Amino acid sequence: MSAGPVTEAAIKTGIPVENPATGETIATVPELGADEIRAMVTQAREAQPAWDAIGFAGRAEVLLSARRWMVANAERVVTTIVAETGRPADETQFAELAYGLSALEFWAKAAPAYLADEEIQSASPFVRGRKLVVRYAPLGVVGVIGPWNYPLNNSFGDCIPALAAGNAVVLKPSEITPLTSLLMAEMLAECGIPEGVFQVATGGGETGAALVDEVDMVMFTGSVATGKKVMARAAETLTPVSLELGGKDPMIVLADADLERAANAAVSYGMNNSGQVCISVERVYVEEPAYDDFLERVTQKVRSLRQGPPGEPGSVDVGAIIFPPQIELIEAHVRDAVERGARIVTGGKPTEGLPGRFFEPTVLADVDHSMRCMIEETFGPTLPVMKVGDPDEAVRLANDGPYGLQASVWTRDTERGEAVARRVEAGVCCVNDAQLNYAALELPMGGWKASGLGSRHGPDGIRKYAKRQSLMITPGYAPPRELHMFPYSAPVTEQVAQTFNALVTSDLFTDAQRQTLSVLCDTLIPSLPPPEGEADPTGFWARAASHLGVPEAIEISLLQSGACSPARRRSSWTACAICSTLWPRTGWCPRRRRRRARRSSKASPIPDLTRSPGSTP
Ligand code: NDP
Repeated sequence: MSAGPVTEAAIKTGIPVENPATGETIATVPELGADEIRAMVTQAREAQPAWDAIGFAGRAEVLLSARRWMVANAERVVTTIVAETGRPADETQFAELAYGLSALEFWAKAAPAYLADEEIQSASPFVRGRKLVVRYAPLGVVGVIGPWNYPLNNSFGDCIPALAAGNAVVLKPSEITPLTSLLMAEMLAECGIPEGVFQVATGGGETGAALVDEVDMVMFTGSVATGKKVMARAAETLTPVSLELGGKDPMIVLADADLERAANAAVSYGMNNSGQVCISVERVYVEEPAYDDFLERVTQKVRSLRQGPPGEPGSVDVGAIIFPPQIELIEAHVRDAVERGARIVTGGKPTEGLPGRFFEPTVLADVDHSMRCMIEETFGPTLPVMKVGDPDEAVRLANDGPYGLQASVWTRDTERGEAVARRVEAGVCCVNDAQLNYAALELPMGGWKASGLGSRHGPDGIRKYAKRQSLMITPGYAPPRELHMFPYSAPVTEQVAQTFNALVTSDLFTDAQRQTLSVLCDTLIPSLPPPEGEADPTGFWARAASHLGVPEAIEISLLQSGACSPARRRSSWTACAICSTLWPRTGWCPRRRRRRARRSSKASPIPDLTRSPGSTP
């Protein structure tokens, strides 16, 4: 199970895991190579069919048992995350433990509905009577590659729907924060997941690259640069990918906003996890009349944040910088901004006097789009605040940049806020909120532009881990020969052409009318005796009617008879449909009878599309 084959070689080249808040090495994990990854995927491939075969209920049992395990071991889960991220336990409990618990329950329960067979209704008369179904089948082995910022959410979180869909999963967590994933493997093993179904492959970038080569689908979260590499590598084997690549989330504060709420949100959603959040508030645009007040509120709140190694609950607000090179990147963004005319209102440099890696919570004013901090992902506790003249300017600036993950608009006028939100180029846009949408597992979240491909949560959050199969089931008593089958004949070709003509007259019937028409046909043609033993005579007639080509015949008849002039089509279609359906069988159609005398040259009988090609229509 669990952590994959640990070889002598792997242990010798082990990766030290550091607590970023203290600088201590807290563990060493193996660095797995390509051979070990291949072996893990082979094992996963062997284990997957049985995991699929136990069905949604069997898999839900394991996932819900894992949820109970997580509740019972909550402190261990939180402590492990805190140790490898240097983030306060308060935040870890709220942002990761809570997410893990709800995701285990959500996907266990939602999977059967999201992946249930879908019966499809087609408007095409050519497939009338057929059963059309889309079904979802697991892909096989899914490779999940995660970053270091949320070791539970962004790594194990993506494994949960993949497992619920019936896949085996090999998870490659970031080498910086692998311990939580190993704990999740231990959890699932204790909760009865079959050997090989969930494995954790520890290692660095090369380990991730090797995984891409072996699996049936890759779910990747991380930087744009690595996301592109993953996609290019996956293209070699035509392996599908889903990419979550970070963002530069804009916050638009309109003049009428509740500035106290907006300021609290800017500070919380800009500084939580030290800003190392892909859906962090990364830049703020404030309408001029509210700018000074907003900046003052934000500055006061940021100045009062408590920073340091995680301690007792309620003792620290902002934790460590997890990834060592990140400190230099944040510093470079601040330096670049200052060089281009920005003003550091508070913070602005690595925090001194603390044991680990920290960056001061920072507010920047007088910023503009010539600065890296307004365009590139900073991924740190910085909040650049820019004054704008009106909402149009705010939207234009919000959309100026490569990313499009999330955004937010703040105003007391929610209707106006929604209108502005709809103009922002981002996969998610909140009004008077930010980030919290992530807790709504029913609501898709995924990036536009450089922020990624595909989405998490909602139906696509699990369907991406499945392959679709479309099924078309034609009854066994369908006619031996369809009208379009060989051999071709002139009369049939002519009638098919007429049918096409009728069909391209798309305003003849709306989809709803077509459906009603089908029901009418099914109801009005109960003249065929069902075959012996047919359990569903109504369904039989419905299907049998379709094999008579009745809908096509009706349409052609309507066109040819002129009974439905364009002006009258909508109002008279039902009556005409009934008449036209009955008329060829019963000769009954008062309207046609009246007209026949006048239009005998134009009215032609309904073509019988099921006639043999040799016979005369
Ligand atoms: P990366 O994109 O480099 O890493 C993400 C994951 O991919 C890690 O597990 C990494 O392994 C792995 N990886 C690295 N190279 C390859 C490869 N060639 N093929 C397959 N997998 C690979 O992110 P970083 O951790 O380096 O962070 C860099 C930047 O990315 C941050 O500054 C931030 O801007 C952004 N980021 C965005 C996140 C988000 O949530 N969208 C999360 C984290 C970072 P390993 O870490 O072991 O090298």
